[in-house]
Amino acid sequence: MAHAARLKSVVESLTRGHRNIEFPTKPDGRPQSVAEVFGQNVFTLKEMSKMLPKPVFKSFIRQLKGNSALDKVTADAIAHAVKVWALERGATHFTHWFQPLNDSTAEKHDAFLTLKSTFNNGFEEVTAIDTFSGSQLLQSEPDASSFPSGGMRTTFEARGYTVWDTKSPMFIQEGPHGTAILYIPSVFISYNGEALDEKSVLLRSSEVLNKISTEVLQLIEPVDEDHPRTKQVITTLGTEQEYFLIDRALYTLRPDLKICGRTLLGGLPPRHQQLEDHYFGKIPTRVLAAISECELELAKLGVPVKTRHNEVAPAQFEVAPIFEEAMLAVDHNLLTMDVLHRVAHRHKLKVLFHEKPFRGVNGSGKHCNWSLCTDKGDNLLDPSATPETNYRFLIFLVAVLKGVQDHGDLLRAGIASASNDHRLGAHEAPPGIISAFLGSQLNEVLNAVEEGRPVNDLAAGTQLQHVRVKGTVLDLKVATLPNISRDLTDRNRTSPFAFTGNKFEFRAVGSKQSVSFPVTLLNSCVASALHEVRDALKKQMGDKPVASEEDQIAVIREFIKKTKNIRFEGDNYSDEWVQEAAKRGLPNIVKSPDAFRRLLKDVNASMLQNLGVFSDAELQSRYHILIEKYAKDVTIEAQTLLTMVTQQVLPAVFQYRRDLAEAASFMKNVGVESSPEVQLLNELTPIVAELQKRTNSLDKLMEDNNKYEDLVKLADVVSDEVLPAMEAVRTLADQLERMVADKLWPIPKYTELFLNI
Ligand code: ADP
Ligand code: MG
Repeated sequence: MAHAARLKSVVESLTRGHRNIEFPTKPDGRPQSVAEVFGQNVFTLKEMSKMLPKPVFKSFIRQLKGNSALDKVTADAIAHAVKVWALERGATHFTHWFQPLNDSTAEKHDAFLTLKSTFNNGFEEVTAIDTFSGSQLLQSEPDASSFPSGGMRTTFEARGYTVWDTKSPMFIQEGPHGTAILYIPSVFISYNGEALDEKSVLLRSSEVLNKISTEVLQLIEPVDEDHPRTKQVITTLGTEQEYFLIDRALYTLRPDLKICGRTLLGGLPPRHQQLEDHYFGKIPTRVLAAISECELELAKLGVPVKTRHNEVAPAQFEVAPIFEEAMLAVDHNLLTMDVLHRVAHRHKLKVLFHEKPFRGVNGSGKHCNWSLCTDKGDNLLDPSATPETNYRFLIFLVAVLKGVQDHGDLLRAGIASASNDHRLGAHEAPPGIISAFLGSQLNEVLNAVEEGRPVNDLAAGTQLQHVRVKGTVLDLKVATLPNISRDLTDRNRTSPFAFTGNKFEFRAVGSKQSVSFPVTLLNSCVASALHEVRDALKKQMGDKPVASEEDQIAVIREFIKKTKNIRFEGDNYSDEWVQEAAKRGLPNIVKSPDAFRRLLKDVNASMLQNLGVFSDAELQSRYHILIEKYAKDVTIEAQTLLTMVTQQVLPAVFQYRRDLAEAASFMKNVGVESSPEVQLLNELTPIVAELQKRTNSLDKLMEDNNKYEDLVKLADVVSDEVLPAMEAVRTLADQLERMVADKLWPIPKYTELFLNI
């Protein structure tokens, strides 16, 4: 019987112990510290410098700094060194590791094995050796025809190449039977150099942002012996990854989770997250065992995992690293997802990265903490206690606001997907309206600068009249930031884009997606705004080599005025905000297909192309890939729902009806009142009849949809018609789940999924 499998899985899940692994130990038997194992599987610069001849290492560093191309001699020497390093660690294979446009990573393993033939007295002797050349390190050509390209490779050239991204270090991952595989982080490009991956565009956007940020800094920072010129600005990123963990046996019994990553059916149990007692609660032992095994692997891979905790929804958790340079942070987030997935398996757990696996409880996001950092280690979004740097801070702050204001819809496009749609605007995550939150004190500072009045210190309840700026007392017609970090403790969890002390937190990003795309778009928006800031500064400065404080304040004020629209301090989940945003003319983009179209909108497309982050063809291809994926995702969900209702829900209801009917007739035969059974049957009948009807219309709709060859059109149809039709089916099926005898229900229920870990 169907429910027997469910029962068996429930029992299995409850009686599992937790898996123990051998943690690396010190000679005295105590566990090693995380710092000791950190980066053990990474071919770091330090490792490289130990193994390479000095001139070769120097030449590599020059290349890293962007001053020269990698020559063959250097590449060969690095290839040899990394081969020796990897073989010592049991590596049998190497792979270029890249990020095609499918939110995941790709790899194709090649053995180091080569056959060498020599001739001995006219006889060929074949010897097996391990080789790895510079050209193998630099470039590879996987058979790339099945990766998404949005039509790009058909218009250009069918070949795709992976090229070593020298900025991201190589590493080994442990393979089966004590062996290992050498991973070479790579970009994936077409024959003509068009990006076929997430990484190339992120690299380009970081470079553009670096260039314009240093240019702006040159205008505002006087240079002398003690204060050398800023030569580089990097994007920093810290990703807070949310996910669910459920028991594998129960997961296996849910086709919706297996196929779509989310439940398409299932009602809320009486107790779920109302008490909010899961948040920061004690991590279940079995989960902790899995997480710490995962953390160990990540530490070896040099991923600086910092925090772990229970999230709001039952069975929901979060992992966050220490922030890093954006490119590396993206690589590390993808590795984190990969390792979580694999390690969870070993613990008979299943990790769910979908943004909304369960209806009615919170979904998962991936907050992207984003800032800019100079080569002197200064965080450009750190208000700091020293007023000298306040102007610099304000200049970069208003540039971010301007970028978000001009291209908020583009940022919305960067986080759109069939899965994230269920989370955005579901009164638990920021809605489809992009706005920025600054916190009351910073908000007050911007208002004061705009109005040319003193800043109120909101915490102290006083007005700041004067402040020392570089030895002179300035009238506070100009702004300074009164001890801003202290006052910025207020948080707005409802904002999609919130300033949090010394960085912005892009909170609307989905848990499942690669953050590369949203970060690329954010970098681009800000870079574009910084170009405007630069021009405004230049205009203000006239012939001066460096902008005066007054010049800077004038520009800051101008941009504060321009960006008022995008600032919102209130509750982003409220209906008032939806109305207010409409009045302000801010777009409220509810559905993904509408969001994707914003990629091609002139103001966005021309900005991305002018900066050189995307070519026209790349942008078109991106749009097609995203919208087609959306159409396919929803279509697959609808087909899965149809199968589950037809093969699992309806048979269970029919069995129950039959049981009730037999019982009623039995009662009647023995002369006992049968009305309770009959009443229940009568209640069930219209619901099951309606479910059947709705299922049939969904089926018909899907058949009709087969005629769409154009997936762009289909995307609109599935969003406008299929999703509501699925919703109607689900509501009825969930109603029946509550009515049908539990012992007949074949699909694991939410209670079991949430609590059996
Ligand atoms: P929470 O938002 O939960 O309070 P934290 O304040 O600890 O969490 O920070 C969350 C993430 O932000 C961490 O990954 C952290 O490393 C990252 N972060 C902190 N400072 C910066 C920065 N300057 N740039 C980018 N990310 C940062
Ligand atoms: Mg956070």
